[in-house]
Order: sequence, then C-alpha cells, then structure tokens
Amino acid sequence: MQMTLHFSEDNIAELLDRAIEQGQIIAYYQPKYDAATGMLNGAEALARWQAPDGSLIQPSEFIPLLEKTGHITTLDWYILEQVCEMLKRQIIQGVRTVTVSVNFSRLHSLEKDFAGRLSDTVDKYGISRHLIEVEITESTLVHCRQNIIDDINAIRSKGFSVAIDDYGSGMASSNFVKDVSADVLKIDRSLMSHNCEDERERILLECIINFAHRLKFSVVAEGVETLEQLSFLRTCGCDTIQGYFFSKPMERSQYMELCRFSEFDTVNDDILVTQSASTATELLLNAVFTCFPLIIMSNLTRNSYYTIAYENFTTTNCPSTGVYTDLIAHGAASMHPDDRELFSRTFDRMDQLEAFARGQRTRRVVTSQLGDDGIYRRVETTNYYMQNPAVDDVLAICMSRLL
Ligand code: C2E
Ligand code: MG
Ligand code: MG
Repeated sequence: MQMTLHFSEDNIAELLDRAIEQGQIIAYYQPKYDAATGMLNGAEALARWQAPDGSLIQPSEFIPLLEKTGHITTLDWYILEQVCEMLKRQIIQGVRTVTVSVNFSRLHSLEKDFAGRLSDTVDKYGISRHLIEVEITESTLVHCRQNIIDDINAIRSKGFSVAIDDYGSGMASSNFVKDVSADVLKIDRSLMSHNCEDERERILLECIINFAHRLKFSVVAEGVETLEQLSFLRTCGCDTIQGYFFSKPMERSQYMELCRFSEFDTVNDDILVTQSASTATELLLNAVFTCFPLIIMSNLTRNSYYTIAYENFTTTNCPSTGVYTDLIAHGAASMHPDDRELFSRTFDRMDQLEAFARGQRTRRVVTSQLGDDGIYRRVETTNYYMQNPAVDDVLAICMSRLL
C-alpha cells in the first residue's frame, strides 16, 4: 500500500473522493474562549487529511490545490456534515454545545442557493442553526462583492451567523467590511507579533477592534499564543480568543471531552471580578447611555460636533457629525415655537465660549422638542464644558434626556 500521498492537479479529486469514502478526511476542532471570562464559547472546525501511514496532512498541503481545481467545495460540505454529526452526538449525550464555525471557500459564492443547501444539510441532523457559523475569508469578499453581500444576507436570514476570516491578512478591504453585515470579524494572526510589544502594532489592533465594535461585529483574535498577547487584547475589549495559548486544534473525541468537562466549570458570573478595564468602561458607558440617549461632543472653538449616542426620538435626519452652529439651528427648528429663542440663545457658540472664559462649566435648559412621530416631549439638555488638554480648544459634552 502507498504510505504517503503525492497530490497533483490531476489526482487530487480522485484522492479526495477516496479519502472521504475511507474516513480519512477528519474535522479537528480548535476551541475559542471568551476573552473576559476565559470560558469556552465556540470552536472552529479545521480539516485534516490522514495519510495511509496514519500521519496527518495539514491544510496548507491540500487546500490550495483543492481551491485551484474547484474541489474544495466537496471538502467543505463534508466537513460541515462531520460537524453536524458531532453536534448531534453532543446533544444526544447531553453534553454542552457551543457554536462551531466551518470554513467555506470563496468558490461557494458560485454555487446556486448556498444558504438553502446549508439549511437543508443542518436541518437534516435536527440541530439548531445557531450552532453553525460560516467563516468566509476576506479575500473572498474582495473578489465578488455583490454576490457575497447577498449570500451573507441570505445565510443570516436563515438563522446562521457569519464570520469574516483572516481580517488584515492581505487586501485592504476595510471599505468592504463596512458594507457587510456579518456577525464576527476574525483578526488574522499575522497582525500580532509575539508579545504585541510593538507600539504601532498595538495601536493598529486597538483601532481594528474599535472599528469592528462600532460596526457591531463581535471580534475574535486568532493565533493568540502568549499571555502578553491575551492581556493586551483583553484591555482592548476583544471578545473572543482562539489560539495555542488556550488550545491547539484537537480531534473530535478530545473536543467532546473538553466540552463535557467545561460543563463543570463554575461560571464566574461576578462580572466585576472578571472584567478588564476597557470592558468595565463599556459597562459604565452603557449605564450613561441608558440615562442619556443622546450625547453630543462639540468643539466650540472649531465649530464642529460629533454624536456618540443616537437613540433619540427626534432628528433622524441630522448628520452624526458636522458644523456645530448648523446642529444648533437644526435643534432649534425641532423645538416648540415658544422654546426656540431660549434654545438658540443658551447654546449660542460665542456666548458659551465667553461664559467658559468667565468660569462657567455647565449650562442646562429644559425645552419641548418635536419627535419624528409628531409628538412634543420635555427634554433636558445639559452642556458640560472642558478644555482639551492638548490644545486650547473648548469642548462641550452635551447630554440630553427625557423628563
Ligand atoms: P483559518 O481558517 O484562519 O484557521 C486558523 C488557522 O490558524 C488554523 O490552521 C489553526 O490551526 C491556526 N492557528 C490557530 N491558533 C494558532 C496559534 O496560536 N498559532 C499558530 N501558529 N497557528 C494557529 P490550519 O488548521 O493549518 O488551517 C489553515 C487554513 O486552512 C485555515 O485558516 C483555513 O483557511 C484553511 N482550512 C482549514 N480547514 C478548512 C476547511 O475545511 N475548508 C476550507 N475552505 N478551508 C479550510
Ligand atoms: Mg477560519
Ligand atoms: Mg483565519
């Protein structure tokens, strides 16, 4: 019997079919962990090819060839079946299940009704669709933009989650990511050096995590190998960690054991003990936003503003950033006619700058404001003034709440 495999474009399809038949294509599982609590919160299925001599062949040796010849789709669907089968076993055995992500090559975007086939395959096993996540690589997205956006919407509408894989590994596609409504952004391990000690690299990671959160992605950092990397990512508010620091990819039985064991982990649900500094700040901000659904930062010196919370009942057509005096004109127009003068006078830019110079630090006004639904509501608007420590600009933090 041939002990090793020599792949070529001519024989790979045949070898793949035979390997599938003989159970030599195996899904390995790499666990993912909640960055704040360290609890298991998912896994990624990764293909391994078992050679006749029992050794394992890594994806880098066969995936590129399968991609090139178009047979990767056969492998992906087969791995999905294995994952569904494993999840079904867990459910039957009463083992805790977490979402497992499956890699799908860009070639699937050429398949008709990918989302339909995905649903049919998963439903056949009687498992919940939220247990499956579809991982698509960033380079896929760059190639056939509209197809992929449509595919992602279709996949999500069927109840699956979607992750954008390998973000930052190649093409500069931030522009695309901003248009895609996926659930998860996976940061490629190439963006992380051994200990994240490089200042510019740290800034980049922090900004990517921020950018992803602003676009409502949950963030997974891949390839986390050291405690230093983990600590840094936690302070940036990264949601999930995947990497050798916690665990390497493992075979099914070992993974199922891990899930069984993790059932007995006592969930450390004292969030104040486990939170990192930046997630604690996020909690605080959420509390502030609950009280003040509209918060606007303004630079009175430079006549600019930026809205940082926008869950208000009014002014849906007011841009989230722009010229401060336009904002006040816009706000005044939405006030009850009796209050317009008061509002405009209170928040006159030059008058506030002069008052700040005289030592005033807050200004508050209560007005009736018209909502987009045609109803007037009593609103309290308070400006808190401060000086930007770096330059001499006077800033106003405006916090609005309903009375
Ligand atoms: P990927 O989807 O980005 O998967 C993550 C890769 O990073 C895996 O490599 C994983 O073993 C590796 N990794 C995770 N943590 C660490 C770490 O801390 N340090 C280091 N050095 N590596 C880490 P793997 O299993 O070799 O897979 C490589 C790539 O092959 C995958 O990258 C994915 O693009 C592709 N692939 C694997 N299985 C499949 C599959 O079933 N279908 C498709 N289409 N592609 C697959
Ligand atoms: Mg992946
Ligand atoms: Mg990846």
